[in-house]
Amino acid sequence: MAIGRIITGQSLSEQEESFNVSLRPKSLDECVGQANVREKLAIAIAAAKQRAEPLEHILFYGPPGLGKTTLANVVANEMGARIRCSSGPALVKAGDVMGLLSNIGTGDVLFIDEIHRLSTPVEEFIYPAMEEFKVDFTVDSGLHAKTINFPLKRFTLVGATTRAGLLSAPLRSRFGMLYHLDFYSAEELTTILARSAELLTLQCDPGTLELIAQCSRGTPRVANRLLKRVRDYAQVKGTGLLSTAIVESALKMEQIDPLGLDELDRAVLRALVNVYDGGPAGIEAIAATLGEERDTLEDVVEPYLLQIGFLRRTKRGREITKQACDHLGLKTHKNKSARDQPELFEQGKQ
Ligand code: ADP
Repeated sequence: MAIGRIITGQSLSEQEESFNVSLRPKSLDECVGQANVREKLAIAIAAAKQRAEPLEHILFYGPPGLGKTTLANVVANEMGARIRCSSGPALVKAGDVMGLLSNIGTGDVLFIDEIHRLSTPVEEFIYPAMEEFKVDFTVDSGLHAKTINFPLKRFTLVGATTRAGLLSAPLRSRFGMLYHLDFYSAEELTTILARSAELLTLQCDPGTLELIAQCSRGTPRVANRLLKRVRDYAQVKGTGLLSTAIVESALKMEQIDPLGLDELDRAVLRALVNVYDGGPAGIEAIAATLGEERDTLEDVVEPYLLQIGFLRRTKRGREITKQACDHLGLKTHKNKSARDQPELFEQGKQ
């Protein structure tokens, strides 16, 4: 059975979506972190505005919850343009894209989330739209089939993906700007939380937002979600004030540890030790052991564990590191010769 988690970067409930939308920065100045990406975007936007031209196509890539959708909206706002949003899996046929493109105005932004999941026919249909701002649309079929050449307004395609590696080379090469989003520092997350707390009119004791930031896996979406959980907890169990004790208890209840790992992260690491002798193990095998989707492990769990040095990716699969064993209280195997090989069994189970 899949393990429920607060830190998933995917499938927001409607309530959470509206919570997030209200906290979403609207301008580049309101955005925190990603200084390099923001600077390059600011220059590209200023230059395009001076020339009174639409922006080039942009691809944002990186783990979920780091701000790809936010930046797409910010780009549209800064350009004073409208944005139309869709996602790779929703665009099944050329006709689905045609519906979007035929209504798009000059300079408007077309945002396609999960762009790596576009089908090949849709992808090929999009190439001339991106390059020459026209599409060849086939109506009818068989003997009556006709191809209509349909001119489009000059628009900006903003694509987002968690897997830039899965994008075909021809599609990737049609983006003028490709920006990788990195995990945020605890300081940046604290700033994001302070803004969110203010918008939600929360009262916080000093140090409490830092505590939440440290447990947020470098991800603004996780930070905002944790803040919401803590807010609920403070309201029901306390006076509404976010004190250190309340925040610690709320995080404990959510089974989030001081490094921001949750039950699923720990389950992956434990499975590696207990079932695969510390690894290497293939991601498919680990997913099957846990009854989880491979995509969830690859998109949400793995990037952070790699970032904090708890996992190693080798040609033969994923391996747990000594740091992870130490953090989880797994003993290293004294007799293993390989460098910093992890212990094969959990402490006490030997
Ligand atoms: P992605 O599209 O990469 O999955 P989102 O753009 O949906 O991520 O971001 C998730 C949430 O995190 C947003 O709703 C917003 O509240 C917050 N957020 C993301 N990036 C930033 C940022 N740079 N500054 C402040 N808040 C941010």
